[in-house]
Amino acid sequence: MSSKDWIEKDYYAVLGVEKSASSDEIKKSYRKLARQSHPDHNPGDPLAEERFKAVSEAYAVLGDDKKRREYDEMRSLFGSGAFRRSARAGGQPGGGVPFDVSDLFGGAAAGGDTRFGGGGFTDLFSSIFSGGGGGAGGPARPRGPARGRDVEAEVALDFGDAVRGVTLPLTLRAPGVCDTCHGNGAKPGTQPVTCPVCHGAGVTTRNQGSFSFSEPCRNCQGVGTIVEEKCPECHGTGGVTKTRTLNVRVPAGVADGQRIRLAGRGEPGDRGGPAGDLFVHIKVRPDELFGRTGDDLTLNVPITFTEAVLGTDLRVPTLDGTVTLRVPPGTPSGRVLRARGKGVVRRDGQAGDLLVTLDVVVPAKVSDEARAALETFAEQSPPAAREHLDARVRRFS
Ligand SMILES: [Zn+2]
Ligand SMILES: [Zn+2]
Repeated sequence: MSSKDWIEKDYYAVLGVEKSASSDEIKKSYRKLARQSHPDHNPGDPLAEERFKAVSEAYAVLGDDKKRREYDEMRSLFGSGAFRRSARAGGQPGGGVPFDVSDLFGGAAAGGDTRFGGGGFTDLFSSIFSGGGGGAGGPARPRGPARGRDVEAEVALDFGDAVRGVTLPLTLRAPGVCDTCHGNGAKPGTQPVTCPVCHGAGVTTRNQGSFSFSEPCRNCQGVGTIVEEKCPECHGTGGVTKTRTLNVRVPAGVADGQRIRLAGRGEPGDRGGPAGDLFVHIKVRPDELFGRTGDDLTLNVPITFTEAVLGTDLRVPTLDGTVTLRVPPGTPSGRVLRARGKGVVRRDGQAGDLLVTLDVVVPAKVSDEARAALETFAEQSPPAAREHLDARVRRFS
């Protein structure tokens, strides 16, 4: 669990409790939600699984008094607005872009400041919260250029495309680096100047209690430089919204609510850093005939009473053809027939089945001839087995 998670995720909302909730209330709410979303109670439901993980993660923090205090402390620090995204990182004001601490502080620390021992803010926070000092003797993690942010997108698929797999063009609008000023925000022909407040470090130091906090410089938003003549293309932010189209290969067998991760297809990294990932949320439009349970497809097929009694061969559609199923004589309504291998093809090449539920339909009206035949049939057929009800019926007669 990273400090980024702590800032982005509202664990109180996940557990549906107030910030002031007692530890008993938190425990109670967690138990209820964990029970509801437990994978054992929701087999094959990826949404429930996600939910269960989120609830467990939230409780791992809020259920532990010490961690909860640290979490509250960190959230209030960041909620105060003291930490804003640097303009150079392409942040959109109020755009609901997830806050990426490692990007922001990675960039700030790379501006020549050595106060973090090269470890960046993530490490700084870990050492504060683990009760350690400056971590002077700790191993300094080498940092490269900041990684690009992850991007989320959603695609809606037809039922058949989800079963068989499909390649789709996906158009993404995301912040990117301005081509006119190459991201420095300055009008072409001019250069950004060193920030007079932080002298280019991008950070200022503030004392709070026994801790000394370094925070991004408010004057330059942590960049270390000030743009005097703004780039006309991006108005000095260094970032513009760019549209790009990707061909996304959706594997066969995806289910509604699943999320596909395409590594390295997110936003490009800052100054040559690695790209983020693209997460595609899958929506599957329902089919008018087929349903789906895991890897099996389902289909309801009406049959007549005589077909059920005498047996028949049924020709039913599959997703890509037809299949003939033998209905044996004396088949009850609701019987499920299985067409092996006619379901969803899994990643390992094995396929699920097509499950055909037989539904004996009773005609609302019959012709005179049919009625006469049925009356003859009734005289010939044994009564329904209702002896087990008779004793109870006699009690009331
Ligand atoms: Zn500054
Ligand atoms: Zn620009």
